[in-house]
Amino acid sequence: MMKGKTRAYCRRCRHEQVFVRSVIHHRVHLFFSLITLGLWAVGWLAICIGQFFWPWRCEHCRWAEPEFRDCRNEKAEAKNAEEEAPGPRAA
Ligand SMILES: [Zn+2]
Repeated sequence: MMKGKTRAYCRRCRHEQVFVRSVIHHRVHLFFSLITLGLWAVGWLAICIGQFFWPWRCEHCRWAEPEFRDCRNEKAEAKNAEEEAPGPRAA
């Protein structure tokens, strides 16, 4: 059901996670739309809209807004900030 994976920062998990991209099985939705006389198409449309706006999902917490930023830079910046800022013992 799921296809495509990438690593990105998850704001909810607060660290880098695997994000999966969902794939819609249109043939299955078409089949169910036909046997429910079009009623299923409402859900199918909602799924298509959701997949268009939020294609990625955090594998761990299902968060839908991955942040594609370089986490290595962030760690380096945090390390530099620690080194520059005087600690409580240095004061
Ligand atoms: Zn997450």
